[in-house]
Amino acid sequence: MSEEKSLNFIEEIIEKDLQDGKHETILTRFPPEPNGYLHIGHAKSICLNFGLALKYNGKTNLRFDDTNPVTEETEYVESIKEDINWLGFKWTNEFYASDYFDKLYEFAIILIKKGLAYVDDSSSEEIAQQKGTPTIPGIRNRFSERDIEENVKLFTEMKDGKYVDGEKVLRAKVDMSSPNMHMRDPIIYRIKHAHHHRTGNKWCIYPMYDFAHGQSDSIENITHSICTLEFIPHRELYNWLIQQLAIFPSQQYEFARLNMTYTVMSKRKLLQLVNEKHVVGWDDPRMPTISGMRRRGYGAAALRDFCDKIGIAKRENLIDIGLLEFCVREELNKTALRRMVVFNPLKITITNFNKEEEMVSIEDNPEDPNSTHRMVPFSKEIYIEQEDFMEIPPKKFFRLYPGGRVRLKGAYIIECNEVVKDNEGNITELQCSYLPESKSGNDTSGIHVKGTLHWVSKAHAVHAEVKLFDRLFHIENVAEAEGDFKDHINPNSLQIIEKVYAEPALLDIDIQKKYQFLRKGYFCIDKDSTKEKLIFNRTVTLKDTWAKEVKKN
Ligand code: ATP
Ligand code: MG
Repeated sequence: MSEEKSLNFIEEIIEKDLQDGKHETILTRFPPEPNGYLHIGHAKSICLNFGLALKYNGKTNLRFDDTNPVTEETEYVESIKEDINWLGFKWTNEFYASDYFDKLYEFAIILIKKGLAYVDDSSSEEIAQQKGTPTIPGIRNRFSERDIEENVKLFTEMKDGKYVDGEKVLRAKVDMSSPNMHMRDPIIYRIKHAHHHRTGNKWCIYPMYDFAHGQSDSIENITHSICTLEFIPHRELYNWLIQQLAIFPSQQYEFARLNMTYTVMSKRKLLQLVNEKHVVGWDDPRMPTISGMRRRGYGAAALRDFCDKIGIAKRENLIDIGLLEFCVREELNKTALRRMVVFNPLKITITNFNKEEEMVSIEDNPEDPNSTHRMVPFSKEIYIEQEDFMEIPPKKFFRLYPGGRVRLKGAYIIECNEVVKDNEGNITELQCSYLPESKSGNDTSGIHVKGTLHWVSKAHAVHAEVKLFDRLFHIENVAEAEGDFKDHINPNSLQIIEKVYAEPALLDIDIQKKYQFLRKGYFCIDKDSTKEKLIFNRTVTLKDTWAKEVKKN
């Protein structure tokens, strides 16, 4: 296979496995626990697992790791599927670890019958105490000496609901003096009288992560089971169970999880932000969730590009959120429709414009060679931004000032003739004249101006609300900061501008459309918008190209 980019370490392993004939084809899986919405870290895992299968002509299963009945909900299952679809990936099978509860129960019985598992009546404190420390070996208690028959009987009774939560557990009999604490007779089943989102009340015993995950991989014949670094110490037990049960030899590989600046990346913490109303929901545009980013206007291609750019590492690192924003801008620059929106209006009357209105044609995206055009109404009264006028301009102020000229984007050159003020001296209006022969695209005036301003016709302006977002946290490394992570929430992460003035083309409510408001940033329509009330989210700011352009001229 010829490559432009060098292979990452997992691709190297896969290519070797395929060359050696260890596997004919690869099968990966994405195994979310349905206890929250997916975040950008999950996107990395999704892009990796699905991306490998696409690259090597393999397949990827979506498996819900739903072995904990208490925290899991169907709402999360649906959101996870929606997010993966939106990211552009298709799973081969949709499986649930809970589909394997019968099989896992059989596996447990096999272990018991091989003398490799026992029912322990100790309390969790006792079990923890007997486990020892990494330097002091653990000790086995008297329950570990129960014979096979008694263990089968007790485990069956556990399943049949004879005991209360915590009264007994099933433990694998591995090695109480292993330097790896996970090997010291780990608990593999616990009693939990709880309703499960899929199996209902059928079960009151549930397998622990280590006794479900690897076995589910084997049941599905997963060839490469890819997880994050914190699972390295689990690998020994993963392999031990596969060996003892003589099931399909799936293999676990670990990569560094994604950590990003100015945010948190743990469902537990994100749930707190939602429950304690620091944000409006899982899909709040400030959240690092896939649904939040989608609502904010980030494109799926930008997220995939970001995951590709950060690559796969074996060591933890902290990725600059600016890189994600760079990818978002790059995509939007190519696709976003340009529109004009005035945030702080200053009225201009064009004294010599005597028509009712004139439609001017403006390109939707100058970066796109096949760009469409839209018709924008121009009339006698228009709005420009207050900041685009100065009565006493500093040097190199290329916007409007008394006696100065600018071009109105896509329309005409105007000249400021008079500044109108109220009794208190506030500027209420500018009186300007326009040069009829300076129309954009057909300019015969021979006059060159340095500034181009965005504008909106007053009579045609559409009102909208705009939401501007800042970082959710005001420190870079939230995960490693002292104290409660919520102490570092940025209190000013949301700014609402209740009324802006937009050109009429923005009345078209289409969640799919992405916009660049000239000189303001990239925006999308918020899902709460109605015909009566338009709401736009700022996806990301522009790089300050305006300042640069002004300098160039
Ligand atoms: P969290 O700590 O946010 O709750 P998790 O690891 O418990 O995450 P799971 O639903 O178990 O979440 O994760 C599904 C898959 O996504 C796992 O394979 C996990 O390793 C991977 N994953 C989770 N978080 C990240 C991350 N930040 N970077 C890369 N992969 C991740
Ligand atoms: Mg988890």
